[in-house]
Amino acid sequence: MAVLNAPADAWVARSLAAVWHPCTQMQHHETVPLIAVSHGRGPWLVDHAGKRYLDAISSWWVNLFGHANPRINAELKDQLDKLEHAMLAGFTHEPVVQLSEQLSALTGGVLGHAFYASDGASAVEIALKMSFHYWRNCGASAKQEFVCLQGSYHGETIGALAVTDVALFKDAYGPLVKNAHVVATPDARQAGAGETAADVALRAAADLERLLQERAGRVAAVIVEPLVQCAAGMAMHDPLYLQRVRALCDAHGVHLIADEIAVGCGRTGSFFACEQAAIWPDFLCLSKGISGGYLPLSLVLTREEIYQAFYDADVRRGFLHSHSYTGNPLACRAALATLAIFREDDVLARNAAKAARLRTLLAPLAGHARVRHFRQCGTIFAFDAVEPDAGRAASFARRFFAAATEHELLMRPIGRSVYLMPPYVLSDEELVHLAERTLRSFEQVL
Ligand SMILES: *Cc1c(COP(=O)(O)O)cnc(C)c1O
Repeated sequence: MAVLNAPADAWVARSLAAVWHPCTQMQHHETVPLIAVSHGRGPWLVDHAGKRYLDAISSWWVNLFGHANPRINAELKDQLDKLEHAMLAGFTHEPVVQLSEQLSALTGGVLGHAFYASDGASAVEIALKMSFHYWRNCGASAKQEFVCLQGSYHGETIGALAVTDVALFKDAYGPLVKNAHVVATPDARQAGAGETAADVALRAAADLERLLQERAGRVAAVIVEPLVQCAAGMAMHDPLYLQRVRALCDAHGVHLIADEIAVGCGRTGSFFACEQAAIWPDFLCLSKGISGGYLPLSLVLTREEIYQAFYDADVRRGFLHSHSYTGNPLACRAALATLAIFREDDVLARNAAKAARLRTLLAPLAGHARVRHFRQCGTIFAFDAVEPDAGRAASFARRFFAAATEHELLMRPIGRSVYLMPPYVLSDEELVHLAERTLRSFEQVL
Protein backbone atom coordinates (compact mmCIF):
# COMPACT_ATOMS: atom_id res chain seq x y z
CA MET A 1 0.00 0.00 0.00
CA ALA A 2 1.26 3.46 -0.91
CA VAL A 3 2.19 5.93 1.80
CA LEU A 4 -0.60 8.47 2.12
CA ASN A 5 -0.30 12.13 2.96
CA ALA A 6 -4.04 12.37 3.30
CA PRO A 7 -5.61 11.82 6.70
CA ALA A 8 -5.23 8.10 7.39
CA ASP A 9 -8.84 7.60 6.58
CA ALA A 10 -10.15 4.13 5.96
CA TRP A 11 -12.31 5.22 3.02
CA VAL A 12 -9.31 6.71 1.23
CA ALA A 13 -7.23 3.54 1.54
CA ARG A 14 -10.13 1.33 0.52
CA SER A 15 -10.91 3.59 -2.45
CA LEU A 16 -7.31 3.48 -3.67
CA ALA A 17 -7.43 -0.30 -3.49
CA ALA A 18 -10.86 -0.82 -5.04
CA VAL A 19 -11.70 2.16 -7.28
CA TRP A 20 -9.98 3.24 -10.49
CA HIS A 21 -10.48 7.01 -10.43
CA PRO A 22 -11.14 9.02 -13.64
CA CYS A 23 -8.64 11.40 -15.25
CA THR A 24 -6.08 10.34 -12.63
CA GLN A 25 -2.62 8.78 -12.69
CA MET A 26 -3.32 6.64 -9.63
CA GLN A 27 0.31 6.73 -8.55
CA HIS A 28 0.04 10.49 -7.98
CA HIS A 29 -2.13 9.71 -4.97
CA GLU A 30 1.07 8.70 -3.21
CA THR A 31 1.62 12.45 -2.79
CA VAL A 32 -1.66 14.19 -3.67
CA PRO A 33 -4.48 13.64 -1.19
CA LEU A 34 -7.61 11.73 -2.14
CA ILE A 35 -10.53 13.16 -0.21
CA ALA A 36 -13.37 10.97 1.00
CA VAL A 37 -16.57 13.04 0.96
CA SER A 38 -19.05 12.28 3.69
CA HIS A 39 -21.79 14.72 2.68
CA GLY A 40 -22.56 17.94 0.84
CA ARG A 41 -24.59 21.00 1.73
CA GLY A 42 -25.05 24.00 -0.57
CA PRO A 43 -21.70 24.81 -2.20
CA TRP A 44 -19.79 22.82 0.44
CA LEU A 45 -18.44 19.28 0.44
CA VAL A 46 -17.48 17.86 3.84
CA ASP A 47 -14.99 15.02 4.32
CA HIS A 48 -14.96 12.26 6.92
CA ALA A 49 -12.66 14.27 9.18
CA GLY A 50 -15.23 17.08 9.19
CA LYS A 51 -13.11 19.35 6.98
CA ARG A 52 -15.09 21.42 4.46
CA TYR A 53 -14.32 22.42 0.88
CA LEU A 54 -16.05 25.10 -1.17
CA ASP A 55 -16.90 23.36 -4.45
CA ALA A 56 -15.46 26.12 -6.66
CA ILE A 57 -15.72 24.02 -9.84
CA SER A 58 -19.21 22.64 -9.26
CA SER A 59 -17.88 19.07 -9.13
CA TRP A 60 -16.68 19.10 -12.75
CA TRP A 61 -19.16 21.74 -13.88
CA VAL A 62 -22.34 19.84 -13.10
CA ASN A 63 -23.71 21.34 -9.89
CA LEU A 64 -25.83 24.49 -10.26
CA PHE A 65 -27.83 24.99 -7.07
CA GLY A 66 -25.68 23.39 -4.41
CA HIS A 67 -25.41 19.92 -2.96
CA ALA A 68 -28.43 18.38 -1.21
CA ASN A 69 -30.64 21.17 -2.54
CA PRO A 70 -33.93 20.95 -0.62
CA ARG A 71 -36.11 21.79 -3.64
CA ILE A 72 -34.52 19.26 -5.97
CA ASN A 73 -34.48 16.67 -3.17
CA ALA A 74 -38.21 17.11 -2.58
CA GLU A 75 -39.03 16.63 -6.26
CA LEU A 76 -36.86 13.52 -6.46
CA LYS A 77 -38.40 12.01 -3.33
CA ASP A 78 -41.85 12.54 -4.82
CA GLN A 79 -40.77 10.98 -8.12
CA LEU A 80 -39.20 7.97 -6.37
CA ASP A 81 -42.58 6.84 -5.09
CA LYS A 82 -44.20 7.27 -8.51
CA LEU A 83 -41.82 5.84 -11.11
CA GLU A 84 -38.08 5.28 -10.91
CA HIS A 85 -37.69 4.12 -14.50
CA ALA A 86 -39.53 2.75 -17.49
CA MET A 87 -38.16 2.05 -20.94
CA LEU A 88 -38.75 4.83 -23.44
CA ALA A 89 -39.36 2.69 -26.52
CA GLY A 90 -43.10 2.09 -26.79
CA PHE A 91 -43.68 3.91 -23.48
CA THR A 92 -43.53 7.48 -22.28
CA HIS A 93 -44.02 9.35 -19.00
CA GLU A 94 -44.81 12.79 -17.62
CA PRO A 95 -41.31 13.96 -16.65
CA VAL A 96 -39.79 13.27 -20.08
CA VAL A 97 -42.70 14.95 -21.89
CA GLN A 98 -42.63 18.04 -19.71
CA LEU A 99 -38.86 18.38 -19.89
CA SER A 100 -38.85 18.05 -23.68
CA GLU A 101 -41.60 20.67 -24.02
CA GLN A 102 -39.89 23.11 -21.67
CA LEU A 103 -36.50 22.80 -23.37
CA SER A 104 -38.02 23.36 -26.79
CA ALA A 105 -39.85 26.42 -25.44
CA LEU A 106 -36.52 27.80 -24.22
CA THR A 107 -35.35 27.82 -27.87
CA GLY A 108 -38.53 29.59 -28.93
CA GLY A 109 -39.61 26.35 -30.60
CA VAL A 110 -36.73 26.44 -33.11
CA LEU A 111 -35.30 23.21 -31.67
CA GLY A 112 -37.16 20.25 -30.23
CA HIS A 113 -37.66 16.50 -30.61
CA ALA A 114 -35.40 15.87 -27.61
CA PHE A 115 -33.41 12.65 -27.86
CA TYR A 116 -32.01 11.42 -24.53
CA ALA A 117 -28.90 9.65 -23.26
CA SER A 118 -27.04 9.59 -19.97
CA ASP A 119 -23.68 11.29 -20.49
CA GLY A 120 -22.25 14.10 -22.55
CA ALA A 121 -20.07 12.00 -24.84
CA SER A 122 -23.14 10.00 -25.88
CA ALA A 123 -25.06 13.19 -26.68
CA VAL A 124 -22.18 14.25 -28.93
CA GLU A 125 -22.18 10.88 -30.67
CA ILE A 126 -25.95 11.11 -31.14
CA ALA A 127 -25.59 14.51 -32.82
CA LEU A 128 -22.79 13.18 -35.09
CA LYS A 129 -24.83 10.12 -36.04
CA MET A 130 -28.02 12.13 -36.62
CA SER A 131 -26.19 14.57 -38.89
CA PHE A 132 -24.57 11.79 -40.92
CA HIS A 133 -27.85 9.86 -41.16
CA TYR A 134 -29.82 12.98 -42.13
CA TRP A 135 -27.54 13.54 -45.11
CA ARG A 136 -27.77 9.88 -46.10
CA ASN A 137 -31.58 9.99 -45.89
CA CYS A 138 -31.43 13.06 -48.16
CA GLY A 139 -29.30 11.26 -50.74
CA ALA A 140 -26.05 13.03 -49.75
CA SER A 141 -24.27 9.97 -48.42
CA ALA A 142 -20.84 11.44 -49.33
CA LYS A 143 -21.19 13.78 -46.34
CA GLN A 144 -19.42 11.68 -43.73
CA GLU A 145 -16.78 14.01 -42.31
CA PHE A 146 -16.80 16.31 -39.30
CA VAL A 147 -14.99 19.49 -38.38
CA CYS A 148 -13.91 20.47 -34.88
CA LEU A 149 -11.81 23.27 -33.41
CA GLN A 150 -8.26 23.26 -32.14
CA GLY A 151 -8.38 22.48 -28.43
CA SER A 152 -11.96 21.19 -28.67
CA TYR A 153 -13.30 18.73 -26.10
CA HIS A 154 -16.46 16.76 -26.77
CA GLY A 155 -15.97 13.69 -24.60
CA GLU A 156 -13.75 10.65 -24.45
CA THR A 157 -15.61 7.72 -25.95
CA ILE A 158 -14.07 6.62 -29.25
CA GLY A 159 -16.65 8.46 -31.38
CA ALA A 160 -16.44 11.65 -29.32
CA LEU A 161 -12.63 11.51 -29.35
CA ALA A 162 -12.85 11.88 -33.13
CA VAL A 163 -13.93 15.50 -32.63
CA THR A 164 -11.78 16.13 -29.54
CA ASP A 165 -8.42 17.88 -29.96
CA VAL A 166 -6.77 17.50 -26.57
CA ALA A 167 -3.50 15.63 -27.16
CA LEU A 168 -3.36 14.06 -23.71
CA PHE A 169 -6.76 12.40 -24.08
CA LYS A 170 -6.41 11.53 -27.72
CA ASP A 171 -2.86 10.55 -28.61
CA ALA A 172 -2.80 7.26 -26.70
CA TYR A 173 -5.92 6.07 -28.53
CA GLY A 174 -5.13 7.63 -31.92
CA PRO A 175 -5.15 4.36 -33.88
CA LEU A 176 -8.75 3.68 -32.76
CA VAL A 177 -10.12 7.05 -33.83
CA LYS A 178 -11.49 8.30 -37.17
CA ASN A 179 -10.16 11.84 -37.05
CA ALA A 180 -12.18 14.94 -37.85
CA HIS A 181 -10.76 18.02 -39.59
CA VAL A 182 -9.32 20.45 -37.04
CA VAL A 183 -9.65 24.18 -37.78
CA ALA A 184 -8.25 27.24 -35.99
CA THR A 185 -9.60 28.09 -32.56
CA PRO A 186 -11.07 31.56 -32.00
CA ASP A 187 -9.45 31.61 -28.51
CA ALA A 188 -9.20 35.34 -27.71
CA ARG A 189 -5.84 34.82 -25.98
CA GLN A 190 -4.31 34.66 -29.46
CA ALA A 191 -4.95 38.34 -30.09
CA GLY A 192 -1.75 40.05 -31.22
CA ALA A 193 -0.83 43.65 -30.38
CA GLY A 194 -3.67 45.95 -31.34
CA GLU A 195 -6.01 43.05 -32.15
CA THR A 196 -9.42 42.45 -30.56
CA ALA A 197 -11.17 39.17 -29.76
CA ALA A 198 -13.38 39.88 -32.78
CA ASP A 199 -10.29 40.00 -35.03
CA VAL A 200 -9.21 36.57 -33.77
CA ALA A 201 -12.76 35.29 -34.32
CA LEU A 202 -12.79 36.48 -37.94
CA ARG A 203 -9.38 34.95 -38.61
CA ALA A 204 -10.50 31.60 -37.18
CA ALA A 205 -13.72 31.74 -39.20
CA ALA A 206 -11.67 32.35 -42.35
CA ASP A 207 -9.80 29.10 -41.65
CA LEU A 208 -13.11 27.23 -41.49
CA GLU A 209 -14.23 28.95 -44.68
CA ARG A 210 -11.14 27.71 -46.54
CA LEU A 211 -11.85 24.14 -45.48
CA LEU A 212 -15.55 24.30 -46.37
CA GLN A 213 -14.83 25.80 -49.79
CA GLU A 214 -12.73 22.74 -50.52
CA ARG A 215 -14.59 19.95 -48.76
CA ALA A 216 -18.19 20.95 -47.96
CA GLY A 217 -19.46 18.18 -50.23
CA ARG A 218 -17.95 15.64 -47.84
CA VAL A 219 -18.59 17.44 -44.55
CA ALA A 220 -21.69 16.58 -42.51
CA ALA A 221 -21.24 18.98 -39.59
CA VAL A 222 -19.07 21.43 -37.70
CA ILE A 223 -19.08 21.00 -33.93
CA VAL A 224 -18.29 23.88 -31.55
CA GLU A 225 -18.36 24.66 -27.84
CA PRO A 226 -20.09 28.06 -27.95
CA LEU A 227 -18.28 30.97 -26.20
CA VAL A 228 -16.00 28.89 -23.95
CA GLN A 229 -13.84 25.87 -24.81
CA CYS A 230 -13.84 24.72 -21.22
CA ALA A 231 -11.51 21.72 -21.24
CA ALA A 232 -8.98 23.69 -23.29
CA GLY A 233 -8.46 25.76 -20.13
CA MET A 234 -11.51 28.04 -20.36
CA ALA A 235 -10.56 29.46 -23.76
CA MET A 236 -13.12 32.19 -24.48
CA HIS A 237 -14.11 33.72 -27.81
CA ASP A 238 -16.16 36.53 -29.26
CA PRO A 239 -19.80 35.65 -30.13
CA LEU A 240 -19.05 36.97 -33.60
CA TYR A 241 -17.31 33.65 -34.27
CA LEU A 242 -20.58 31.76 -33.80
CA GLN A 243 -22.39 34.13 -36.17
CA ARG A 244 -19.73 33.58 -38.83
CA VAL A 245 -19.81 29.80 -38.37
CA ARG A 246 -23.61 29.79 -38.64
CA ALA A 247 -23.42 31.80 -41.87
CA LEU A 248 -20.69 29.55 -43.30
CA CYS A 249 -22.61 26.38 -42.43
CA ASP A 250 -25.71 27.82 -44.14
CA ALA A 251 -23.77 28.89 -47.22
CA HIS A 252 -22.05 25.50 -47.61
CA GLY A 253 -24.89 23.15 -46.64
CA VAL A 254 -23.24 21.85 -43.48
CA HIS A 255 -24.84 21.27 -40.06
CA LEU A 256 -23.80 23.19 -36.97
CA ILE A 257 -23.65 21.19 -33.73
CA ALA A 258 -23.49 23.31 -30.56
CA ASP A 259 -22.04 21.34 -27.68
CA GLU A 260 -23.55 23.24 -24.74
CA ILE A 261 -22.83 20.40 -22.32
CA ALA A 262 -20.62 22.66 -20.19
CA VAL A 263 -21.71 26.16 -21.26
CA GLY A 264 -25.47 25.60 -21.27
CA CYS A 265 -27.85 26.08 -18.33
CA GLY A 266 -26.87 29.68 -17.61
CA ARG A 267 -23.11 29.25 -17.26
CA THR A 268 -22.20 32.00 -19.73
CA GLY A 269 -24.89 34.45 -18.59
CA SER A 270 -27.71 33.41 -20.94
CA PHE A 271 -29.53 30.08 -20.59
CA PHE A 272 -27.94 28.83 -23.82
CA ALA A 273 -24.58 30.27 -24.86
CA CYS A 274 -25.78 30.49 -28.50
CA GLU A 275 -28.31 33.14 -27.49
CA GLN A 276 -25.47 35.65 -27.09
CA ALA A 277 -24.72 35.31 -30.79
CA ALA A 278 -28.46 35.32 -31.64
CA ILE A 279 -28.09 32.06 -33.56
CA TRP A 280 -29.45 28.53 -33.21
CA PRO A 281 -27.53 25.42 -34.21
CA ASP A 282 -29.00 22.43 -36.04
CA PHE A 283 -28.21 20.19 -33.07
CA LEU A 284 -27.79 21.33 -29.48
CA CYS A 285 -26.24 18.98 -26.89
CA LEU A 286 -26.97 19.43 -23.19
CA SER A 287 -25.83 17.49 -20.12
CA LYS A 288 -23.88 18.33 -16.93
CA GLY A 289 -25.95 21.11 -15.29
CA ILE A 290 -29.30 20.12 -16.78
CA SER A 291 -30.06 17.74 -13.89
CA GLY A 292 -28.69 20.26 -11.39
CA GLY A 293 -25.68 17.98 -11.01
CA TYR A 294 -27.81 15.21 -9.50
CA LEU A 295 -28.13 12.41 -12.03
CA PRO A 296 -26.58 11.43 -15.35
CA LEU A 297 -28.71 12.94 -18.10
CA SER A 298 -27.91 14.23 -21.57
CA LEU A 299 -29.95 15.14 -24.61
CA VAL A 300 -29.85 16.46 -28.14
CA LEU A 301 -32.36 18.97 -29.53
CA THR A 302 -32.77 19.36 -33.27
CA ARG A 303 -34.83 21.10 -35.95
CA GLU A 304 -38.19 20.02 -37.36
CA GLU A 305 -36.72 19.65 -40.85
CA ILE A 306 -34.07 17.22 -39.61
CA TYR A 307 -36.63 15.20 -37.66
CA GLN A 308 -38.85 15.00 -40.76
CA ALA A 309 -36.03 13.46 -42.82
CA PHE A 310 -36.18 10.42 -40.50
CA TYR A 311 -40.00 10.17 -40.38
CA ASP A 312 -40.89 7.25 -42.62
CA ALA A 313 -42.42 3.77 -42.77
CA ASP A 314 -38.96 2.24 -43.18
CA VAL A 315 -37.22 1.39 -39.88
CA ARG A 316 -33.81 1.89 -41.45
CA ARG A 317 -34.59 5.52 -42.23
CA GLY A 318 -35.37 6.08 -38.54
CA PHE A 319 -32.70 7.10 -36.06
CA LEU A 320 -30.93 3.95 -34.89
CA HIS A 321 -29.69 4.58 -31.38
CA SER A 322 -30.70 3.70 -27.84
CA HIS A 323 -29.46 3.58 -24.26
CA SER A 324 -30.97 1.53 -21.44
CA TYR A 325 -31.65 4.58 -19.28
CA THR A 326 -32.93 6.86 -22.07
CA GLY A 327 -35.16 9.54 -20.53
CA ASN A 328 -34.84 8.23 -16.99
CA PRO A 329 -37.77 9.74 -15.01
CA LEU A 330 -35.71 10.54 -11.91
CA ALA A 331 -33.10 12.39 -13.97
CA CYS A 332 -35.81 14.21 -15.94
CA ARG A 333 -37.55 15.18 -12.70
CA ALA A 334 -34.27 16.60 -11.33
CA ALA A 335 -33.99 18.58 -14.58
CA LEU A 336 -37.56 19.88 -14.21
CA ALA A 337 -36.76 20.98 -10.65
CA THR A 338 -33.64 22.72 -12.00
CA LEU A 339 -35.64 24.58 -14.68
CA ALA A 340 -38.24 25.56 -12.06
CA ILE A 341 -35.53 27.18 -9.94
CA PHE A 342 -34.34 29.15 -12.99
CA ARG A 343 -37.86 30.51 -13.47
CA GLU A 344 -38.83 31.10 -9.84
CA ASP A 345 -35.58 32.69 -8.66
CA ASP A 346 -34.71 34.82 -11.70
CA VAL A 347 -31.37 33.00 -11.66
CA LEU A 348 -29.78 34.67 -14.70
CA ALA A 349 -30.23 38.17 -13.21
CA ARG A 350 -28.96 37.08 -9.80
CA ASN A 351 -25.96 35.36 -11.37
CA ALA A 352 -25.05 38.56 -13.20
CA ALA A 353 -24.92 40.42 -9.89
CA LYS A 354 -22.90 37.70 -8.15
CA ALA A 355 -20.46 37.50 -11.06
CA ALA A 356 -19.93 41.27 -10.99
CA ARG A 357 -19.23 41.08 -7.25
CA LEU A 358 -16.79 38.18 -7.71
CA ARG A 359 -15.01 40.07 -10.47
CA THR A 360 -14.42 42.96 -8.06
CA LEU A 361 -13.21 40.59 -5.35
CA LEU A 362 -10.78 38.94 -7.77
CA ALA A 363 -9.10 42.25 -8.70
CA PRO A 364 -5.89 41.38 -6.79
CA LEU A 365 -5.54 38.27 -8.94
CA ALA A 366 -6.46 40.03 -12.18
CA GLY A 367 -3.62 42.48 -11.57
CA HIS A 368 -1.14 39.94 -10.14
CA ALA A 369 2.36 39.98 -11.65
CA ARG A 370 2.27 36.19 -12.20
CA VAL A 371 -1.16 36.21 -13.90
CA ARG A 372 -1.88 36.45 -17.62
CA HIS A 373 -5.17 36.58 -19.52
CA PHE A 374 -7.56 37.08 -16.61
CA ARG A 375 -10.93 36.42 -18.25
CA GLN A 376 -14.61 35.98 -17.48
CA CYS A 377 -17.74 34.76 -19.24
CA GLY A 378 -20.88 34.66 -17.10
CA THR A 379 -20.01 32.73 -13.94
CA ILE A 380 -16.79 31.29 -15.42
CA PHE A 381 -13.56 33.02 -14.35
CA ALA A 382 -10.06 31.96 -15.42
CA PHE A 383 -6.47 33.10 -15.59
CA ASP A 384 -3.15 31.61 -16.68
CA ALA A 385 -0.33 31.27 -14.17
CA VAL A 386 3.14 32.38 -15.21
CA GLU A 387 5.51 29.62 -14.12
CA PRO A 388 8.90 29.97 -15.84
CA ASP A 389 10.35 26.76 -14.32
CA ALA A 390 9.34 23.92 -16.66
CA GLY A 391 9.44 21.22 -13.98
CA ARG A 392 7.27 23.22 -11.60
CA ALA A 393 4.94 24.17 -14.45
CA ALA A 394 4.29 20.49 -15.20
CA SER A 395 3.11 19.81 -11.66
CA PHE A 396 1.34 23.18 -11.21
CA ALA A 397 -2.21 21.83 -11.39
CA ARG A 398 -1.60 19.08 -8.85
CA ARG A 399 0.22 21.40 -6.47
CA PHE A 400 -2.57 23.95 -6.79
CA PHE A 401 -5.23 21.32 -6.07
CA ALA A 402 -3.38 20.30 -2.89
CA ALA A 403 -2.85 23.92 -1.76
CA ALA A 404 -6.50 24.77 -2.44
CA THR A 405 -7.72 21.88 -0.28
CA GLU A 406 -5.65 23.31 2.61
CA HIS A 407 -7.56 26.56 2.09
CA GLU A 408 -11.00 24.88 2.09
CA LEU A 409 -11.41 24.99 -1.69
CA LEU A 410 -12.04 22.35 -4.31
CA MET A 411 -10.20 23.59 -7.42
CA ARG A 412 -8.51 21.69 -10.23
CA PRO A 413 -6.61 23.85 -12.71
CA ILE A 414 -6.23 22.68 -16.31
CA GLY A 415 -2.49 22.85 -16.89
CA ARG A 416 -1.60 26.37 -15.77
CA SER A 417 -5.11 27.72 -16.37
CA VAL A 418 -6.76 28.29 -13.00
CA TYR A 419 -10.52 28.63 -13.18
CA LEU A 420 -13.56 29.16 -11.02
CA MET A 421 -16.93 27.77 -12.05
CA PRO A 422 -18.87 27.80 -8.78
CA PRO A 423 -22.48 26.78 -8.15
CA TYR A 424 -24.99 29.64 -8.50
CA VAL A 425 -25.82 29.76 -4.78
CA LEU A 426 -22.80 31.42 -3.13
CA SER A 427 -23.61 33.95 -0.38
CA ASP A 428 -21.58 37.14 -0.25
CA GLU A 429 -19.49 35.65 2.55
CA GLU A 430 -18.79 32.61 0.38
CA LEU A 431 -17.83 34.78 -2.59
CA VAL A 432 -15.31 36.55 -0.34
CA HIS A 433 -14.02 33.17 0.92
CA LEU A 434 -13.63 31.98 -2.66
CA ALA A 435 -11.72 35.06 -3.88
CA GLU A 436 -9.43 35.33 -0.84
CA ARG A 437 -8.59 31.64 -0.69
CA THR A 438 -7.96 31.42 -4.43
CA LEU A 439 -5.38 34.20 -4.06
CA ARG A 440 -3.78 32.53 -1.02
CA SER A 441 -3.63 29.13 -2.75
CA PHE A 442 -2.07 30.75 -5.81
CA GLU A 443 0.60 32.54 -3.80
CA GLN A 444 1.37 29.37 -1.88
CA VAL A 445 1.95 27.45 -5.10
CA LEU A 446 4.21 30.11 -6.69
C1 LIG B 1 -17.94 17.22 -20.12
C2 LIG B 1 -18.09 17.51 -21.57
C3 LIG B 1 -18.44 16.50 -22.49
C4 LIG B 1 -18.54 15.05 -22.11
O1 LIG B 1 -19.51 14.80 -21.16
P1 LIG B 1 -19.39 13.44 -20.29
O2 LIG B 1 -20.65 13.40 -19.52
O3 LIG B 1 -18.18 13.63 -19.42
O4 LIG B 1 -19.23 12.34 -21.25
C5 LIG B 1 -18.63 16.86 -23.81
N1 LIG B 1 -18.51 18.13 -24.20
C6 LIG B 1 -18.19 19.13 -23.37
C7 LIG B 1 -18.09 20.52 -23.88
C8 LIG B 1 -17.95 18.84 -22.03
O5 LIG B 1 -17.58 19.82 -21.18
